[in-house]
Amino acid sequence: MEYVLKTQNLQKKYRHFCALSGVDMNVPKGAVYGFVGKNGAGKTTLIRLICGLQDPTDGVYKLYGTMNKDKRIQEARRRMGAVVEVPSLYPDLTARGNLEQQYRMLGLPNFDGIDEILKIIGLENTGKKRARNFSLGMKQRLGIGVALCGNPDFLVLDEPINGLDPQGIIEIRELILKLNREKQITVLISSHILDELSKFATHYGFIDKGKILCEMSAEELEAKCRKCVRLKVTDMKALAKVLDERELDYKIIDEEYCDVYSDPNLTDITLALINEHCELLSADKRDESLESFFIGLTGGGQNA
Ligand code: ATP
Repeated sequence: MEYVLKTQNLQKKYRHFCALSGVDMNVPKGAVYGFVGKNGAGKTTLIRLICGLQDPTDGVYKLYGTMNKDKRIQEARRRMGAVVEVPSLYPDLTARGNLEQQYRMLGLPNFDGIDEILKIIGLENTGKKRARNFSLGMKQRLGIGVALCGNPDFLVLDEPINGLDPQGIIEIRELILKLNREKQITVLISSHILDELSKFATHYGFIDKGKILCEMSAEELEAKCRKCVRLKVTDMKALAKVLDERELDYKIIDEEYCDVYSDPNLTDITLALINEHCELLSADKRDESLESFFIGLTGGGQNA
């Protein structure tokens, strides 16, 4: 697999406080990578490091295969656009004015491409309205527009849905999906709202107290959070036979317990088990929701 970003044992200390301790993170090319962690977990710190806004105290990272200590890292970083913390906008300029200013800063020869960016971010009809009068969602989208000016193929967004209303969240989600699917832009998006990220992320990295707890694909997360019924029986072989006959999806936990997916017909299973001389001792519906999975992973606590 090709990776846009790989970090190895990345560390950031502020005096004696370790904001990141030994982070190994892998963002595959083409992914929408949800970087999930509670407030203060270290998400912004990591993003600031890979954007070159701060230096790591230890460890390394590679952007498009280029090591951070390599002189060519600036070239690799030009392929990246980022919105860190709050979008940096000129409040007295219009949406177009902000994009023009960014084009000038990047030294681009003309303003070709601005119309397309305005359209993608859904701000093509904001005319003379100044950025200071935009809603929070519009400001976020304009911030993403500014990050798109250098035509990046890796977009890094730090908590872009924080504080947005439901409509604003949907607009950001659709924008990210459009950029990922139509423009093949790899996206790293940090958030503490796993439920929202789960609607579009393809990969996840979970961070807590400066450490990556685990990385997984969307399929792996879905499998962990699937709804199921946990059956307790006296004869696991008999249960497996009954479930196989019904072509049900299941996972045997141990000699007594088995998780059965896709809303099984319990009456039918119970009757079949009686024929097999097997007793059904209990049946508990389990719904490991995303948030409870996340809380379990981080050991609970505030702001989860
Ligand atoms: P949030 O969503 O609240 O921004 P986060 O996951 O982005 O959370 P960071 O901003 O990366 O968290 O902060 C990680 C930890 O490092 C926090 O405990 C924070 O107080 C601390 N920290 C961040 N910047 C500094 C700094 N310049 N000096 C000292 N401590 C800092």
